[in-house]
Amino acid sequence: MRYEDLYRRSIEQPEAFWAEAATAIDWNEPPRKILEYTQPPFRKWFAGGTTNLCHNAVDRHLAQRADQLALVAVSTETGVTREITYRELHREVNAFAAVLKRLGVGRGERVVIYMPNMAEAVFAMLACARIGAIHSVVFGGFAAHNLALRIDDARPRLLIAADAGSRGGKVIPYKPLVDQACAEAKFPPSKVLIVSRGLDAAQPRVEGRDEDYAALRAQVGDQEVPVEWLESNEPSYLLYTSGTTGKPKGVQRDVGGHAVALALSMRTVYDVGPGQVMFSTSDVGWAVGHSYNVYGPLLVGATSLLYEGLPVNPDPGIWWSLCEKYGVRTMFSSPTAVRVLKKHDVAYIRDHDLSKLHYLFLAGEPLDEPTAQWITNALGKPVIDNYWQTETGWPVLCLLPGVDMKPVKFGSPGLPNLGYRLRVIDETTGNEAAVGEKGVLVIEPPLPPGCMTTVWNDDARFLSSYFGHFRQLLYSSLDWAIRDKDGYTFILGRADDVINVAGHRLGTREIEESVSSHPAVAEAAVIGVHDELKGQVPVVFATLKRSDAGSAEAAAQMMRTVTEQLGAVARPSRVYVVNALPKTRSGKLLRRSLQALAEHRDPGDLSTLDDPNALEEVKRALERGADAGS
Ligand code: AMP
Repeated sequence: MRYEDLYRRSIEQPEAFWAEAATAIDWNEPPRKILEYTQPPFRKWFAGGTTNLCHNAVDRHLAQRADQLALVAVSTETGVTREITYRELHREVNAFAAVLKRLGVGRGERVVIYMPNMAEAVFAMLACARIGAIHSVVFGGFAAHNLALRIDDARPRLLIAADAGSRGGKVIPYKPLVDQACAEAKFPPSKVLIVSRGLDAAQPRVEGRDEDYAALRAQVGDQEVPVEWLESNEPSYLLYTSGTTGKPKGVQRDVGGHAVALALSMRTVYDVGPGQVMFSTSDVGWAVGHSYNVYGPLLVGATSLLYEGLPVNPDPGIWWSLCEKYGVRTMFSSPTAVRVLKKHDVAYIRDHDLSKLHYLFLAGEPLDEPTAQWITNALGKPVIDNYWQTETGWPVLCLLPGVDMKPVKFGSPGLPNLGYRLRVIDETTGNEAAVGEKGVLVIEPPLPPGCMTTVWNDDARFLSSYFGHFRQLLYSSLDWAIRDKDGYTFILGRADDVINVAGHRLGTREIEESVSSHPAVAEAAVIGVHDELKGQVPVVFATLKRSDAGSAEAAAQMMRTVTEQLGAVARPSRVYVVNALPKTRSGKLLRRSLQALAEHRDPGDLSTLDDPNALEEVKRALERGADAGS
C-alpha cells in the first residue's frame, strides 16, 4: 500500500481507520463509539471499550510465545544480563502486582517509579497497568527537588525506587534523594518500596514507611493477580515534562488509544512484529522509553532490548555487538548518542554482523546532516529521523518503512504520521505558511489516539499551554517548522523557553528558579546555547545581591545548587556573573538576544531594550570568559 493512500484514509475516514487499527489489541468489551468529540479539544477514543495494557503486553502472548524472549535487560554497569521470556515476564509482573496490592495500591492511585533501566522498572510499570494504578516514572538523572515537585503533583500512594543507579561505574545512591524529596514534598507517599541490586546496602530504613521488594516478593510467591479492565479513556500513566513555567506538566495518557497507536506504529513506522527484536537505547524515564522500550514492542509480541550503561563501555562497539547477538531488527537512539560514537573508529560498527538490522531511528532532538551522513555510511542502512514530543507519545513526523519507504531527506524528520492533521501556521497572522516559509507546527484537533488526553488534574493548563496560541482551536507544538514542496517538514527549534540538552528536554525557567534559590543571587537568566556534542547546553547569566561578592565562588555554588536540586542533566555548562541583565522596558528578560550573543550571532531587534549598558555588560562577560564552567 502507498503511504499517501493510507495517510489520506486516516484523515478522511478517521473512525473507519482507527476502528480497524483497534483490532490489533484485545478488548474485554468492544468500544461503543470510535471517537467521541463533544467537548473539543478533549476527545475520547474508543469510548466505552474496556481493555488493559498489561493483558495486551503480556498475558495474551502466553498462548503462542510463552518461551520467546520478551525482555532482555543488559547492564554494562552491573555486568548483569537478564533474558526474560513472556512466561517469566508474566510471573514477575503478577508477583509485582501482588506486592502492590499488599501495599494497598488500588485502581486510579498513583505510583511514582524512580529507577534506572532495569528489568524491575518494566515489571513495576506493567504491574501498575495490570491493577489499574497510574504510574509516573521519574528519570533517575533528576535530583531530589525535581522528584519532590512530581510527588506533590501526582500525590502517589507509593514510591518505588532502586537502591541506586550507576553511570560509568559511579554508583549514585537513590535512597538519600528519595528521603530528601519526601522531606521536601507536602504530599509524600505513605510507603516507599526499595528494589535493591546490592549497590547501596548502607542506607537506613524509615520505620513504617520503607519496604524491601525482595522480602515482599518472597512472601507473595507466584500469585496471579487478575487484570483490571479499564475504560479506554481512564488514565494509564503520567509523565512529567518541562514547559515555560517552573512547574512540570503531568502529561496524561489513556489506555485504549495509547495501545492502539503504539501497536499501529510498531507495524507501520518501526516495522517490528511478533518474534522480532527492537532495541531502544532510551531511558525508561522518557517518553521513548515508555512507548518503545516497554509498551510498543510487548504489545506486538516482539522482544525489547533494554540497556543500562554508556554507549562506549566497555568499548564503543557495545551496542552493535548487542544488535549482532540478539538479531536486532530495529534500533532506536538519539542524535547525541551517535555524535558520541562518531568520535570513535567506524570499525566498532563495521566489525559486527548487522545483517539482521534493518533501520536505525533517531529522535528527541534535531539530527544534523554530518551526523546523519556519518551513521548512514557506517551502517549502510536507512537512518530515519522521527519527530515527536512527550505529549504525543508516538511520532508526529517520520517515514513509514512498514508501509512504504519514502526517500530520506537529511535535515527533515519526514512526513505527517498516520492520523495527524498537521499545519504550519504563521505566528502573527494565524494563516497557513506558504511552502518554504517558517511558521509554528500545529496539529488540528482532535489529536489522534496515543496523544495526551490532558494535563493531570489541570484541564485549564492543557487548554492554555497547547490550545491557547491561535484564533482557531489548534494544538501548538511550540516548534518552528518549514515545509518543502514535497511535504517534508523541517524542524527549526523551539518557540518557547524549552531547551534540548542531549535529547533531554529542560525548562529554562526551572533552572532559573533553582539558580535564584541561591541566597547570593539577585536574578538569573538561563538560555540554551549551541553545543557540538549535546545540541544545546544550559548557560547562566546572573546578577548578585552584593556586587562585591566573589563572582567565581558564587558561580561555582550556583552550579552545585542546580546539580543538587535538579540533577546532573540540568547542570549549567557555564555561569557568567554580570552587573545587569538585558531587559525590555516592561521588564522582560531578553533571553533571545542573550542566546544570540552567546552563539556569536546578531542580537536582533533591540528597540525595546531598557538599558544598553546591560547588553555591553554581557558582551564583556562573554569576552572575559565564564566565572564557572568552560
Ligand atoms: P520531548 O518531549 O522531551 O520528547 O521533547 C520534544 C521536543 O524535542 C520537540 O518539541 C522538539 O523541540 C524536539 N525534537 C524531538 N524530536 C525531534 C527531531 N526529530 N528533530 C528536531 N527536534 C526534535
